[in-house]
Amino acid sequence: MPRIADLISHLEQIAPLAYQEDYDNCGLLTGNRQLECSGVVVCLDVIEAVVDEAIAKGFNLIVAHHPVIFKGLKKLTGSNYVERLLIKAIQHNIAIYAIHTNLDNIQDGVSGVLAQKLKLINTQVLLPKKGLLAKLVTFVPVDATQKVLDGIFASGAGSIGNYSECSYSVSGTGTFKPNNQANPVIGSANQLEKVAENRIEIIYPKHLEGRVVAALLAAHPYEVPAYDLIPLENKNMEVGSGFVGELEKSMSKEDFMAYLSKTLSLDCIRYTTAFQGEIKKVALCGGSGSFLLRNAIASKADVLITADFKYHDFFDAEDHILVCDIGHYESEIHTKELLVNVLTKKFTNIAVILSSIHTNPIGYYKL
Ligand SMILES: [Zn+2]
Repeated sequence: MPRIADLISHLEQIAPLAYQEDYDNCGLLTGNRQLECSGVVVCLDVIEAVVDEAIAKGFNLIVAHHPVIFKGLKKLTGSNYVERLLIKAIQHNIAIYAIHTNLDNIQDGVSGVLAQKLKLINTQVLLPKKGLLAKLVTFVPVDATQKVLDGIFASGAGSIGNYSECSYSVSGTGTFKPNNQANPVIGSANQLEKVAENRIEIIYPKHLEGRVVAALLAAHPYEVPAYDLIPLENKNMEVGSGFVGELEKSMSKEDFMAYLSKTLSLDCIRYTTAFQGEIKKVALCGGSGSFLLRNAIASKADVLITADFKYHDFFDAEDHILVCDIGHYESEIHTKELLVNVLTKKFTNIAVILSSIHTNPIGYYKL
């Protein structure tokens, strides 16, 4: 049987923890990752009823979108619902794993699922994230260049969008003088050596740096290879908040809201009344996405679909864009299916179920 650690490592390959926002608390929140996994309950929010569901099924892993430990815990006495459910989970050896803004920030994540449901085309990340990329520069004897490149590519470096094995090289001359203790591949002690070398540059995701450097050192023929690790200001265009894409055909705003409501099974849409116009370009963000208003307007989107818009945020939209606040839970509910699919595809011998508990704390009163 796979261990809980195996499931976690699969999830983190898809949504690396390095992609979470600074304020977040993704990862394993309770439990022992070395235990064999007896089954998984997938939910948006962990509440006590979800822990009870796991206990009843005999499952020892809960995978949740929202981290139930978020602002920090100073006591664990059962004085509120978070402390109570954590105590229960720990007593029953149930691990709780949160996959939150790291799942928001990948293309096939929370917003990507919404874009698929709405059948958007020509999609791209609305606010690509900075600080995730770096560049490796190294110097390799000409005849060892391909071997070193192959090793570095295999570690996950050199991918840009739909392109892999991306690198740049230019030839030059390397110099070095080994001392008496050195064991040089080329040259001999105390003699200045000049070698025809290639300078190679390769981009890589920062969170893979350990692997990339290990691959370089393993493939490079020199005893002490020279290399630079350079952080980049470039945005990673495939990682970040929200999505923007287009409908096949433009719609009136009434038709669009009917389509939205039907496609996502909504009870209620709060929307800006000032916007007049057709809807063709659609920006969206599952969860609290009001911070993306400026970016959505700048992208020339006709609508921003998200949740947790405040009264004054609706004013800020003016008549530039239609804002549709569809509810936080409603905008993220499809994430549950996404997580179940991701896990069942890889782990065929473990039960992975959607929690049957409705965890939305908000109701809509209708006459
Ligand atoms: Zn959320």
